[in-house]
Amino acid sequence: MALTTRQKEMIADKLKRINGACPICSQKNWTIGDEIVSATSVSLGGSTVMGGPFIPMAQVVCNNCGFVSHHAVALLGISLND
Ligand SMILES: [Zn+2]
Repeated sequence: MALTTRQKEMIADKLKRINGACPICSQKNWTIGDEIVSATSVSLGGSTVMGGPFIPMAQVVCNNCGFVSHHAVALLGISLND
């Protein structure tokens, strides 16, 4: 699912209100990824679990060092029904 421009602005605003510095290089120059993503669940044996629960996340990329952070969109006020 792609984020709208408004949703990306909401994420950027939220990151500005908290300490939005990169944990690697301390810069505050981020790009919000276009898509909502999720991590793939795996079993203890290492197999991929299809159809399991997931957390919809926004990707936030540091423009200086490339560090990528993931943020639960629901906690950022983004509804998947918008
Ligand atoms: Zn960085």
